[in-house]
Amino acid sequence: TRSTVGRAVRDRFPILSTRPGGVPLTYLDNAATTQKPDSVLDAIVGYYSRDNSNIGRGHYRLSLNATELYEGARERVRQVLGAQHPDEVVFTQGTTAATNLLADTFGARVVGRGDQVVVSGMEHNSNLLPWRRLCERSGAELVVVPVDGDGRVAAADFRAALGPRVRLAAVAHVSNVLGTVNPVREMIADAHRDGVPVVVDGAQAVPHRPVDVRELDADFYCFSGHKVYGPTGTGALYGRRELLTDLPPYQVGGGTVKGVAHDEPVRHVPVPSRLEAGTPDVAGAIGLVAALDFVDGLGWDAVRRHDAELVDHAVRVLRGVDRVRVVGAPEADPSGIVSVVVEGVHPYDVGGHLDRHGVAVRSGVHCASTFLDDLGLLGTVRISFGVYNTVDEIDFLVRALETVRPGEWTKNHPDSRFL
Ligand code: PMP
Repeated sequence: TRSTVGRAVRDRFPILSTRPGGVPLTYLDNAATTQKPDSVLDAIVGYYSRDNSNIGRGHYRLSLNATELYEGARERVRQVLGAQHPDEVVFTQGTTAATNLLADTFGARVVGRGDQVVVSGMEHNSNLLPWRRLCERSGAELVVVPVDGDGRVAAADFRAALGPRVRLAAVAHVSNVLGTVNPVREMIADAHRDGVPVVVDGAQAVPHRPVDVRELDADFYCFSGHKVYGPTGTGALYGRRELLTDLPPYQVGGGTVKGVAHDEPVRHVPVPSRLEAGTPDVAGAIGLVAALDFVDGLGWDAVRRHDAELVDHAVRVLRGVDRVRVVGAPEADPSGIVSVVVEGVHPYDVGGHLDRHGVAVRSGVHCASTFLDDLGLLGTVRISFGVYNTVDEIDFLVRALETVRPGEWTKNHPDSRFL
């Protein structure tokens, strides 16, 4: 059978044949955002060309149709996450918007003075700062579970952080720095034994593995559409129905109320609309459906095999390069991410050098400086794969890495921890 991934799918991504800076693009920054296939681009143009109108408000055909498309997108996300009801899916701008929404609504309700909120030591700022601010505002304590030597949160360490004062826990499913996978199912089961609800940041999981929120028994699960071949500004928050149903609105305005009179209390519409004030990104939701369909069309087996092949190859060849060190154990359960450090060269200099070869990678702390501090690193060079990447691209990256030299950043940071 013909492969559905790698070279076979590249011509569906117009950007992959561009030459930014006059050299062919080797795009290896997929953990930051993925490129978009033709079907996603077509869906967005198609929506604006044929279907555009505001939803939920009009009583004319076009608006009813757009409303149906938007609610259809919600149903599609429900399916993908394995949620029970479409009204457990709230559209957000992405993972950051979802965690902020949760902290300000659910968090503000359940966390008070003297309580504890548990997070892991590997969190992206988007699943750290909302909880930290919640604790600062409410007089609660933020408890940080350390990451183990393999770059994972051990279930036992998470269990040890639970206790009678814990009201909420928030953890990454997959690390955006190392690509390592946390035992979230076990962590959730442990938390539930204590009656603690768990928020899972699935931003790096959803693009690389089938997720089933019921199988995980997750209370809340967030992801970003743009990391799974969908448009920027899209994403979703799954919330278990019992927990979501009576949440207060996050933002208030159009679409969140049943009708307002100046001298009467406001009556809110039910969730999810209650949590989606204003005109949503309808075109984005339509584009996201096309992206989810695209991944479905490839098949999870093919995507998983491809991730494993690329990560295995990358780890093997990178370990053979002088002065290059692979951080953690990304091949244990591949999620398309390999982080490296080049001894004696600042990650920014590595990124700049690779850019001159048309290679796009992320270098630095990846919005997780607390984790990088724990790792004792100033930063890493993060190589991250999408379904269109190939082994040849990895070899090209490696050849470029072999010629990297210390540059301005390295010279200006003589004592840095990448050395
Ligand atoms: N959490 C993780 C683990 C991430 O990798 C990212 C994206 N860098 C985010 C949260 C934030 O996602 P977004 O910027 O799409 O809101």
